[in-house]
Amino acid sequence: MSDCLFCKIMNGDIPGEKVYDDDNVFAFKDVNPQAPTHILICPKKHMSTILDMDTEDEAVIGSIFSVANTLATEMGLEKSGFRLVLNCGSGAGQSVFHVHFHMLAGRPMKWPPG
Ligand code: AMP
Repeated sequence: MSDCLFCKIMNGDIPGEKVYDDDNVFAFKDVNPQAPTHILICPKKHMSTILDMDTEDEAVIGSIFSVANTLATEMGLEKSGFRLVLNCGSGAGQSVFHVHFHMLAGRPMKWPPG
């Protein structure tokens, strides 16, 4: 989508620190990290929130978990652990309306999240 920040990063129109890229999924470093490791993992297809998901999108959303698995292995996070977070809607803290998972690691995580 032409006016979407994350679509622009994926297309290279805005700089971003890419850490993963395939036909369907893109991942890059969060510009305002909330943990020593803070990666955003997105489907390339523009969906504002997961409420826009269709059954045909199940595979790509599922593959995001495989990408998280790959990145966790590459970054050596298997033992220390990591958190995957998806905010859906402004009430839940979503500020960029292109579906993305936050992958957070490198510090103790509290529960419940704030
Ligand atoms: P959310 O609030 O769940 O929608 O998450 C949006 C995330 O995008 C926030 O953690 C922001 O720090 C991050 N963000 C905003 N602009 C950029 C950017 N240009 N490059 C990388 N991350 C960004």
